[in-house]
Amino acid sequence: MKNEGWYFEDLRTFKRVDNPVPEPLPEEVVIEVGYVGICGSDLHAYTGEHPLVSPGKILGHEFTGRITKIGDEVKDLKIGDNVVVEPSISCGTCYNCTHGRYNICNELKVIGCVGHDGAFQHFVSVPAQKVYTLGEFSMKLATLTEPFAVGVHGVRRSSFKPGNEVLVIGAGPIGLFTAIFLHFSGAKKLVIIDLIDERLRFARDLIPGAITIKPEEFRKDMFTFEGPDLIFECVGTDATMNTAIESARKGTEILLVGVPPAISNVKMIYVQDRELKITGSLMYVKEDFLVAMDLLEKGMVDFDKIVTGVYAFDELPEAFEYTLSNKAKCIKTLIRVGDFVD
Ligand SMILES: [Zn+2]
Ligand SMILES: [Zn+2]
Repeated sequence: MKNEGWYFEDLRTFKRVDNPVPEPLPEEVVIEVGYVGICGSDLHAYTGEHPLVSPGKILGHEFTGRITKIGDEVKDLKIGDNVVVEPSISCGTCYNCTHGRYNICNELKVIGCVGHDGAFQHFVSVPAQKVYTLGEFSMKLATLTEPFAVGVHGVRRSSFKPGNEVLVIGAGPIGLFTAIFLHFSGAKKLVIIDLIDERLRFARDLIPGAITIKPEEFRKDMFTFEGPDLIFECVGTDATMNTAIESARKGTEILLVGVPPAISNVKMIYVQDRELKITGSLMYVKEDFLVAMDLLEKGMVDFDKIVTGVYAFDELPEAFEYTLSNKAKCIKTLIRVGDFVD
């Protein structure tokens, strides 16, 4: 059997490779990949703009598939199960691993990003404990679990309370998922900022009651009392960080969910002078993943709409180029890797 993949050889360059089908370690399962999402971080890596993910690997961390092989010590999973994979791999022994925060493990590896090849190939071996069964649920929609869990984690990391008025900066997938979770968690007012009209329209259509604006349309009096109670920065540029800092009422919290450049030029003076609190948010833990899966299964919004393009495995390079240069049209692009999925 062949295991064809797309090796991320160099910036803006994928090379077709054919690796052996992996054998599972005792506590692993081998997954035949169904769908894989192209993440904003994949696009950043592709163009050399990701500070931590570089060429020399197979990308792909948002994925679903079916189990084809099982390690000797794996229980509760069987060959043929449809699954979604939580791609973080942690050591289990460091301070944060032993205190419920394995997403910031000292030895953190991420399947398809750091230290472990990802799912832009037909077969991938993963730890059984990072695999969640889907039953009859759509493999295509379940591929959204990973980016949704990023939004869930950001909200759970924050001081958010039902009834808060919230500003979300960025209407890409992470901003949208953050906003969706805030909406269903009881945000009283949700204002979403983006530069791109199509994305704003998309957010407005998807999330009931969301107010969508361009950055220059922001006014603090859109909120009840001197601006938002809480801000989620879901882009990760100096400009959007500065928008967050300048939009914040004195003494409020900004969640940094977007991945910023390694060195940023932001107005830290206001962080000190206005006692702003900037809280970083990285990936998710199991609880976030399960919440995201549950909301997807319940169909809380029309999640189908978020999948704006599905490409065949052979078309992966075109899918990257198109998604990169058509931000207005593309929210989430999926690659259909396995022929067995519909
Ligand atoms: Zn992702
Ligand atoms: Zn650890």
